[in-house]
Amino acid sequence: MIGFKTLAIPGPTNMPFEVRRAMEVPLEDHRAPDFPEFTLPLFRDLKEIFRTQTGQVFLFPGSGTGGWEAAISNTLSKGDKVLTASFGQFSMLWVEMCRAFGLNVINCDVPWGEGVPLEEYQAILEKDKSHEIKAVLVCHNETATGVTSDPADVRKILNDLGHPALLFVDGVSSVGSLDFQMDNWGVDVIVSGSQKGFMMPTGLAIVGVSQKALDTCANSDLPVGYFNFHDMVKMNEQGYFPYTPAVTLLRGLRAAIDMLNEEGLPNVVARHHRLANGVRAAVEGWGLKNCAVDKKWHSDTVTAILVPESHNANDVIKAAYHNYGVSLGGGLGKVAGKVFRIGHLGWLNETMILQALGGVEMAMIDAGINFQAGSGVGAAVNYYTDARKALAMVA
Ligand SMILES: *Cc1c(COP(=O)(O)O)cnc(C)c1O
Repeated sequence: MIGFKTLAIPGPTNMPFEVRRAMEVPLEDHRAPDFPEFTLPLFRDLKEIFRTQTGQVFLFPGSGTGGWEAAISNTLSKGDKVLTASFGQFSMLWVEMCRAFGLNVINCDVPWGEGVPLEEYQAILEKDKSHEIKAVLVCHNETATGVTSDPADVRKILNDLGHPALLFVDGVSSVGSLDFQMDNWGVDVIVSGSQKGFMMPTGLAIVGVSQKALDTCANSDLPVGYFNFHDMVKMNEQGYFPYTPAVTLLRGLRAAIDMLNEEGLPNVVARHHRLANGVRAAVEGWGLKNCAVDKKWHSDTVTAILVPESHNANDVIKAAYHNYGVSLGGGLGKVAGKVFRIGHLGWLNETMILQALGGVEMAMIDAGINFQAGSGVGAAVNYYTDARKALAMVA
């Protein structure tokens, strides 16, 4: 294929040239005397991205899934009660991992397309007078359905009840793209990864941990080896790691953080909102439905689009890939064949979105879906030009 392929999946995302260049370096000595001059500022700046002063952010070689394991294995004990909700492939898989670790899972089964069930969480926590529930899980952005929940709402429930459970958040497809505030929201463990909002290759589990969660580790009896928080604390203090870190990726991360900071986090968040609004305008233009059933849950990093019941979403995905070199996200688990997903996070602008939307339109025609060609692209074009005018007026 001549020209760029279109990577419109919610991770890996498009890697900026600056990040790629930063990783094009000779391999380095991770125990060199001057290595901390690189790592200590990196740790400090990472804390700012996670918006924490009192917590710490650890960089494990791994991926988001490893971060889930780190959260569980460091802080909890066999048989501990945890409150969870599954409403998509990712929230569901974290729940399954809790079960695999022998935790006593109280799971709220929520229709896919909805988010964290606040009333159910409230009712269950209210009944838990003896505080047997040790952790509450929140998937900030369910990437399978394009649903964003607000971790701050769950923090408020815990605070209002005076419930001491730890608050665990999956932020793999939100940190660095959506507003996220570790300290203000009282998040105890936040799990992220390198290949989504951080615009990097896969390979890092990026995990923010509160002081309260670190203190809890002493009482945990689950086996923890590779992902040991306290081994990280001890070595990170000196600017080193307990084992060989993925130094090349850390070089890329340095460049990615610099780019996020140069744009400014509030601007990054605003850009994601604007780009997402254009995608949502396109979905409406096509006459199709967003898998997220309510506006309040619409994700600014990924949109899952329901195809008409007469069609299979995989036909759109296949046509997009084979005929136009466009990668779309597939439906996972319960929504397989029902949705295709457009990832709109990371290093992305309006015309890159239009490229993906144009590819989707061609693929939908090939897959025999009935809609007016240009209706989605046109709606997005109108939205983006209006949004630009509004921005220019403010500036
Ligand atoms: C991608 C993703 C994961 C899984 O992360 P891996 O890096 O693939 O292990 C977990 N949760 C959410 C919400 C995700 O989007």
